[in-house]
Amino acid sequence: MSGSGFEPALDLLPVDIQGYRAGNTGIEYVHQFDSGKPGPNVLINALTHGNEVCGAHALATLFENDIRPHHGSLTLSFANVDAYHSFDIGNPGASRFVDEDFNRLWSDEILDGQRQSSELTRARQIRGIIAEADYLLDLHSMHLPCPALMLSGTAAKGRRLAFAMGVPEFVVADPGHSAGPRMRDYGPFAQSQAEPTALLIECGQHWAADTGAVAIHAVFHFLEALGLIDRDTAAPFMATNPPPQRMIEVVGPITIQTEAFRFTEDYTGLEVIPKTGTIIGHDGAQPVVTPHDDCVLIMPTHRPRPGQTAVRLGKFID
Ligand SMILES: [Zn+2]
Repeated sequence: MSGSGFEPALDLLPVDIQGYRAGNTGIEYVHQFDSGKPGPNVLINALTHGNEVCGAHALATLFENDIRPHHGSLTLSFANVDAYHSFDIGNPGASRFVDEDFNRLWSDEILDGQRQSSELTRARQIRGIIAEADYLLDLHSMHLPCPALMLSGTAAKGRRLAFAMGVPEFVVADPGHSAGPRMRDYGPFAQSQAEPTALLIECGQHWAADTGAVAIHAVFHFLEALGLIDRDTAAPFMATNPPPQRMIEVVGPITIQTEAFRFTEDYTGLEVIPKTGTIIGHDGAQPVVTPHDDCVLIMPTHRPRPGQTAVRLGKFID
């Protein structure tokens, strides 16, 4: 399997979040700070995937600096804490989830269903705060080393907010996964005419030192862009001289059909394939080809499984 040879360094490790367990909302590991003034409900969520520790670092930074909203409310949520607490430095990827992917459960049909899992239990606890949010930033990271990517969704509202933030450099308009709806696709977030707006940021490689810094930059740029905190408060934590942002439009996800999917090279993401029809992999006997010139590979998987997304293909819109 291509990509399996990548052995990440473990520079960014879990931070102790036990002090945030009680919360102040009646839900463990969920805090809400209300300014008492009108304004949006803003939610920053970490640990949708338990092994993606950068989000815990970013929320800890907000807590340690007593960041509070000037108007509206700010909710800080550590999502899959049971998975996070299973982190084992000898097998760090295993803490991604306990039973199933927390980020494929976000429809009322699934959440109201009869099925049980560790992740469904937690999702049912926090669904109310997700549903109440006017703005969501969901903090993630990637297995393979790749520059940070903001997944803005296909609606104009997501693109606008991503560009108002000014970071990261690469913004991806992505339609989601066929394997199940993500938190950022829940309810009105996925409806282009509805106002609630959700962004998902992939901050870099899970355990790379830089990834924690990217997550911290992202939360402060997000709160500043929404006017919840002022520039003076945010400035010490913001990126210095970030490069101009670039937009990548996703043409389509490649969904894996067989047990025998493999890429032709060890792609890690953001490779640009110049020619239409270039073979980038095989799904069983079927070649996987680029559908257009200058095709950008977005988040190739390192663990191909039938029904999962192998890679999203896109193009720069400049
Ligand atoms: Zn993730």
